[in-house]
Amino acid sequence: MTDLPERPAPRSTSEIASFHAHIYYDPAATRLEAEQLRTWIDERFSVTLGRWHDAKVGPHDQAMFQVAFAADVFPVLVPWLMLNHGRLSILVHPNTTNPRRDHLADAVWIGPPLAVHGAKLPEQAAMEPAPPPNTAMTLAQPATRKERRFPQLTLDQLDENQKPLGEQIMKVSSIGIAGPYNPMLRSPVLGQRLFDLFHYLRWETSVPIRLNEFAILIIGRQWRSQVEWYAHAPLAAKAGLSPEIISELKAGKQPSGMAEDEAVVYEFVTELTTTKKVSDETFARARKVFSDQQIVDLTAVAGNYVMVAMMLAMAEETVPAGKEPPFKDGEK
Ligand code: ZN
Repeated sequence: MTDLPERPAPRSTSEIASFHAHIYYDPAATRLEAEQLRTWIDERFSVTLGRWHDAKVGPHDQAMFQVAFAADVFPVLVPWLMLNHGRLSILVHPNTTNPRRDHLADAVWIGPPLAVHGAKLPEQAAMEPAPPPNTAMTLAQPATRKERRFPQLTLDQLDENQKPLGEQIMKVSSIGIAGPYNPMLRSPVLGQRLFDLFHYLRWETSVPIRLNEFAILIIGRQWRSQVEWYAHAPLAAKAGLSPEIISELKAGKQPSGMAEDEAVVYEFVTELTTTKKVSDETFARARKVFSDQQIVDLTAVAGNYVMVAMMLAMAEETVPAGKEPPFKDGEK
């Protein structure tokens, strides 16, 4: 036996608070691949997806986004990245208390290595545990110990009857196949017909989108539907519904400062769902601002989102993990 040079005791993996995978891409050539990979990760792993950096940032020599994850995710995520990184380079590094060493000396590369500008990294930093996961896959983890009524499906689990619908959903949904789609996929023929109805009610309806989203929020508020409000409040704001109207509605008040068409939607939908009829006065008011087709479409969108709220309530679906539920327990 030759004498080994004297070395300190080996480092313990307890030094590792979490991991990062930095996924590099060329904004001009491989961004679509990066988007695809990101979507796949979102659907499959409980990790924290960082922002897109289309320009170089920090020590990184190419556009990238970061994936932060806990140590127990490493054995499932990293081998999967090895097989699925395509043309992208990925730097996987531990987070200890020495970012420069973590990135330069102790990292592994998947795909061709790139430059890392270590001078921009400190040699001393606080331990950085993995932040709360923010992926669609995280929905598969129950918020409490209680078993989910319908465990979150993943795309890989869909059978031949479900897959065509799952693929259509993925093209338009901000929450993947979670929310109402998770129970709907259990009944794929019904699910497909509902999806087609949603398609009409979201993109082909005769009701202007601002008013259509307002009607959906009115139902979401009545049902205190976490998922409906979470998904549709940003859509309503984007469509031009004022933040004051949205926040007053959320607080359970009749919004002040509504335009005439908004006031008609509010009265019409609220009256129909709470009194089970529409008075002659309200109907006449609706006739002044809406066509017959719009009145029919408005009624259909409100009724549809009652059905969606029922589906969500029955399945106990909630907002993605790490996201704040819009309605707090105990509030009416
Ligand atoms: Zn990093």
